[in-house]
Amino acid sequence: MTPSRRHFLAAMSSAAYAQSNLDTAINNGRVIDPASGLDAIRSVGISNGVVTVLSPAPLKAKRVIDATGHVVSPGFIDLHVHRQNDENNRFKARDGVTTSLELEIGVSPMKQWIDERRGKSLIHFGASVGHVPARMTATNDTSEWLPAGPAATRAATDPEQVKTLELLRQGLREGGVGIGMGIAYTPFASRAEILDVFKVAAAAKVPIFVHMRGAGAKDPGVVEALQEVITDAAASGASLHVVHLNSSSGRAFELGLSMVRGAKARGIDVSYEAYPYIAGMTQLESAIFNPGFREHLDMDYKDIMLVETGERLNEETFKIHRKKGATVITFSMREQDIDMAMAAPDVIVASDGWITNGKGHPRASGSYSHVLATYVRERKVLTLKDAIRKMSTLPAQRLEKFVPEMKRRGRINVGSFADITVFNPNTVQDRSTYQNAAQYSEGIPFVLVNGTLVVDGGKIVEGVYPGQPVMSKVTI
Ligand SMILES: [Zn+2]
Repeated sequence: MTPSRRHFLAAMSSAAYAQSNLDTAINNGRVIDPASGLDAIRSVGISNGVVTVLSPAPLKAKRVIDATGHVVSPGFIDLHVHRQNDENNRFKARDGVTTSLELEIGVSPMKQWIDERRGKSLIHFGASVGHVPARMTATNDTSEWLPAGPAATRAATDPEQVKTLELLRQGLREGGVGIGMGIAYTPFASRAEILDVFKVAAAAKVPIFVHMRGAGAKDPGVVEALQEVITDAAASGASLHVVHLNSSSGRAFELGLSMVRGAKARGIDVSYEAYPYIAGMTQLESAIFNPGFREHLDMDYKDIMLVETGERLNEETFKIHRKKGATVITFSMREQDIDMAMAAPDVIVASDGWITNGKGHPRASGSYSHVLATYVRERKVLTLKDAIRKMSTLPAQRLEKFVPEMKRRGRINVGSFADITVFNPNTVQDRSTYQNAAQYSEGIPFVLVNGTLVVDGGKIVEGVYPGQPVMSKVTI
């Protein structure tokens, strides 16, 4: 050992020596952790995928990231995505999302779905077990994703309902993150059938994530739809999560919000989410567009856009494309209602997006940076800390009772998993549009999933798949 080397080692404190063994250090960023209230310049040390040091002074590590001028946030947790594949995961990661969950429609069978993604996912992934796909299996509806056959067009027989419930229990035993329901896509499911699903959720102590039966301001719309699921939650004891309260409520968003808040104030365990856009996206062949939809949803043919071509529909082209089947964007909401949803501290942000072969809705690729750029920075509808809470901490807390590892996500503290998003609050920006949804967000230079960089210097890191399955631990 040279004298200078000996001198160097002697000069290092034992703490500094330990710090130099860190895998990664994110130095001098503004760390915002809504769960603990921390909002200060800190350096984050990471070892073996876990945050091990939070220091006021810069840290040494094998890889040092200078986060000066940037926000260091817990990675965003999206409770409502569809199509978790490499194409979508890349857009999500570039938008700061470290966990993507398909909790609305869900999947069935569960084990196979998880096994297909193990070791191949850029970000964490998981799904609820879905009433829609289970009912499709039970009624032999062979539609590709959302039902257009028996599951959408008729009541289920008693044996079919028994089979559906058994598939749901099986999916929960295999790690399903709660039960997903899309009652609007199975409109002939009776009230009793739906209540039975809530009872299964209650027995397993998991929530129901539901796209409700009805939507919009006119009866039977969001009021009746909320009355059904709030009553079922109260009667069964199941927890309830209302997906996209914005699109389900339409122009009655304030009323819808008052109902879920009222239920919560009276002891029902209910949560709710919204996406930051005035347009939705769904399948034209689905039951959403059954006769009468224009009156009920305050939507006309011209408000429907074909994702494939960008073409707006009329009565004639509506009929043609509904028969063939098509993914459509629907312009049905008002800016003022989305503002209210974004401002509300208790409304979780979720995207409800997917991209297929470069086509889709801008929310799939831009929801999280859209909130940070438009609603926080430009329009000051909400604070940065509240945005991070709505995009990370609240969704983790919603799941932690039955997915215990979520207690260590959606936070940055010593012991939490290193799911971390580093963004520049002055430049973070969504680029995706209704015409071109397949555009990466900007201003998010670093994203870590379990301590592994998946976005480095603003670019996707190729060939790394640190995403782990998010699974419930329930007995039923
Ligand atoms: Zn939906």
